Amino acid sequence: MPQSLTPRLRAQLLEEVQQQRAAIYQYLQHGPQAQYSDLLLKLESHPLSHWPELLSQWLTPELEAKTRRLEAIQAALSQMDMGLYGLCCDCDSRIERHLLVQDPARQRCAHCEQSYQDKEHHRNRLN
Ligand SMILES: [Zn+2]
Repeated sequence: MPQSLTPRLRAQLLEEVQQQRAAIYQYLQHGPQAQYSDLLLKLESHPLSHWPELLSQWLTPELEAKTRRLEAIQAALSQMDMGLYGLCCDCDSRIERHLLVQDPARQRCAHCEQSYQDKEHHRNRLN
């Protein structure tokens, strides 16, 4: 990963964390379930890294998508901190630069992403 690109992607990720956080908040505030107000209070008192766990038992499909995205962004940010950013989680090779520009939270190279999608597709068809 060229050093020059990482700070830019990092800034993007940090911004998106805030957006996802706001989106989850908004969703819960307007959500149908009364229990959400307890959940909101809990979220307010915990750091973002605990959110996916706190949200796990409340997931609607929409909330699950937001939570997964939040998790992916946080994973990418901590990989940056550890100097492991931009490596494919399946084969350890470098993720293509243009793909990271498209989606800074991406976890797989083009090849592995394709086989992952194929497997998911297959699994969904079986279910
Ligand atoms: Zn790969």
